[in-house]
Amino acid sequence: MIKKAFFALVANGVRAAPLWDSQKQSFVGMLTITDFILVLHRYYRSPLVQIYEIEEHTIQTWRGEQRTGGPKGRDQGSSAVYSLIKNRIHRLPVLDPASGNVLHILTHKRLLKFLHIFGALLPRPQFLSRSIQDLGIGTFRDLAVVLDTAPILSALDIFVDRRVSALPVVNESGEVVGLYSRFDVIHLAAQKIYNRLDMSVGEALRRRSLCLEGIISCQPHESLGDVIDRIAREQVHRLVMVDESQHLLGVVSLSDILQALVLSPAGIDALGA
Ligand code: AMP
Repeated sequence: MIKKAFFALVANGVRAAPLWDSQKQSFVGMLTITDFILVLHRYYRSPLVQIYEIEEHTIQTWRGEQRTGGPKGRDQGSSAVYSLIKNRIHRLPVLDPASGNVLHILTHKRLLKFLHIFGALLPRPQFLSRSIQDLGIGTFRDLAVVLDTAPILSALDIFVDRRVSALPVVNESGEVVGLYSRFDVIHLAAQKIYNRLDMSVGEALRRRSLCLEGIISCQPHESLGDVIDRIAREQVHRLVMVDESQHLLGVVSLSDILQALVLSPAGIDALGA
């Protein structure tokens, strides 16, 4: 059942789980928070109506619908970093070619950790001391944001529409007051309030029991090295870039940093169109 599966993610404190097909006796994909968002977005009607599909549907029914719903390709031959960034995904299961078992799950954070450890053995590249603004690492235009007074449903609309993993939350004067991520959506399941999509994003942030990614921000003059250190130390996926008065300037994500550190030197652009 879909509901059980999402509760299992919450109970185990994980963001995704490989899906095992007992008939085929093989792994058939990943169940992620994006599935949860898509289920809510598809079936939610109002706070007063129970989401029958979440209670009753099996994962198989849901994934079947998804498959006919749209193409989901994966560049088999390309590198793992390219795959993660190009497909705007955050988890890449690494399979044992012989048994088909999931060996481990590759994430941006693990890749960065690897670079951190092995990078320490190499001379420190000069560009780490250049400012993030100078290097142009991040997204500074066409930012997806949500007002703190907007309902959660409108944040889900944006997540379904745009392949971004978090939305800076702004107040009416345009100051950044928080960050609402795809991961935060799972708290709706944890707190069993997934039919309260009318609740404001601001309220959802206040209720967030595990205060994970607060507003961990950076400013344009800071060096790439400092930004990477902060992301690693705070164990977050991105920093919101703000000016001195907390107005939003951009988002600097691990995707942008891995693109700059790993792919750009090889002449590959996974983030472009
Ligand atoms: P991410 O989803 O954080 O892995 O980022 C994928 C790409 O989307 C990166 O180039 C980010 O800079 C960009 N990005 C992340 N969040 C936003 C947002 N809220 N609005 C616009 N672009 C974003």
